[in-house]
Amino acid sequence: MTALTVATLTLDAGGPREAIVQVSALTGGRTLVAVGPDGASYPELRDRVYAGITNSGLSWPDRNIIISFAPLGLWPVHPSSDLAVAAAVLAAAGHIQFTALSEAMFFGEVGLDGAVRPVPETLALVAAAAEREYRTVVVPAANARQAMLVPGVRVIGVNTLSELLTWATVGTEPAPPGPGQDHAMGTAGQAEPDLPPLPAWMQPTRFALEVAAAGRHHLGVTAAPELPVRLIGQYLRSLVPDLDDRHAVEVSALHAAAGYPVDALIRRPPLQVSGPKTSVTSMLGGKRPGLVSLAHRGVLLLHNAPDFAPEVLHALRQPLDRRIVQLARARGTTTVAADVQLIVTSRPCPCPATHSTSSGCSTPERRRYRNQLRAISDRLDIVAIIEATAGEATAGESTATLTARVVAARAAAAARWAPEGFSTNAEITKDVLRRPSFRIPASATEPLRRLLDAGQLSVQAYGRVLRLAWTVSDLRGARSPDRDAVDSAIELYNPRRYTS
Ligand SMILES: [Zn+2]
Repeated sequence: MTALTVATLTLDAGGPREAIVQVSALTGGRTLVAVGPDGASYPELRDRVYAGITNSGLSWPDRNIIISFAPLGLWPVHPSSDLAVAAAVLAAAGHIQFTALSEAMFFGEVGLDGAVRPVPETLALVAAAAEREYRTVVVPAANARQAMLVPGVRVIGVNTLSELLTWATVGTEPAPPGPGQDHAMGTAGQAEPDLPPLPAWMQPTRFALEVAAAGRHHLGVTAAPELPVRLIGQYLRSLVPDLDDRHAVEVSALHAAAGYPVDALIRRPPLQVSGPKTSVTSMLGGKRPGLVSLAHRGVLLLHNAPDFAPEVLHALRQPLDRRIVQLARARGTTTVAADVQLIVTSRPCPCPATHSTSSGCSTPERRRYRNQLRAISDRLDIVAIIEATAGEATAGESTATLTARVVAARAAAAARWAPEGFSTNAEITKDVLRRPSFRIPASATEPLRRLLDAGQLSVQAYGRVLRLAWTVSDLRGARSPDRDAVDSAIELYNPRRYTS
């Protein structure tokens, strides 16, 4: 006899991964066996599927049914694969036609009573199925609205295995989900309120904010403790364009996996604000995505960053360098997306009050405070220092004007780097920066070279300044950076950031 195979995706290290459920029916008994690559049996999966089918009132055939998974090494199988296994068994048992299975993917956990239970990763799984050109997905009814957020996929939501059977045999689709309730989505996904022009105290950092937004560069801000400096996160986010379809699905899937109700695609880049009490687990994630993944494709703001536990700051180096988080699990590691733009705020000195440099904290105290940032300080592209006395009220540009300039600069960068596979200046690798077609003339980079020779800039920092120079040039509508753009970039990078 031939085995029946059904394609599915299971969740393992690295997110959704393709797998094949193979089901064989043999005469001479009435058992169900689930076998792993090492000959081990998987009683929990077997029991869920067996009980789910028989408790749905479906007859069990006079056949022994054997389930196995390919490729090997995927065990234990994530519970979201239950529905694919159940569908394959129903086909092997003769309840449904195999053709109903070959063009769809199935995701859902099967309860002992035959109920199809929701899985928080549904959106990620459906997005991955769509990428593999599956046009029909069968998902738990409770997740159907989420699954419908993925463009170009027909979604069948089922509450029970009986409903699955009805759909697969009669072709009757369960009623589509009605409009969901409105849920608060935390800080992500909300329409951007029309922000007023930058407040006076923020005006001196206007250019730094604009460059950070246009190039997606990491930004450090030191400001007097009485200023509401975390508002910079809102302002920065208000300047950047909406996420495109692919990124919106990615972000929505991560928020759904974290347990947030996601009824509409998250179109605005998320903003996550965290304070010094944040733990490594809440930052990186554990069973659920952490703050750094909830800020994926958006902004992560660390408020009063020098007060964070050093291990939290240290743990951020991997996502900052590789745009992912790798989490150790009982079996292997899991990789979760974490492409964030960082904003780091700090005070001029460790104490919570503002005072002049001549009183209060000593120079060594200030230095020790700043040093607490050392795990991430070299990842900051721009460091802006806002003086307590700053902010003559000037008529600033509207945020709409700023946004228009940022959007145009992003579009220019995206068009230039598209052949290299990048979209923002912050992503450009050293290789691409060095390529003759993108090399900035020596006359323009001369001041940068001098700083490098004097040991005031590292080679890494040199690259960061070049990326900033590209953004300055894009904001001016120029073709490539000139000496002026490089000078501006050096000022933004602030090579004397640690010495004052
Ligand atoms: Zn002080």
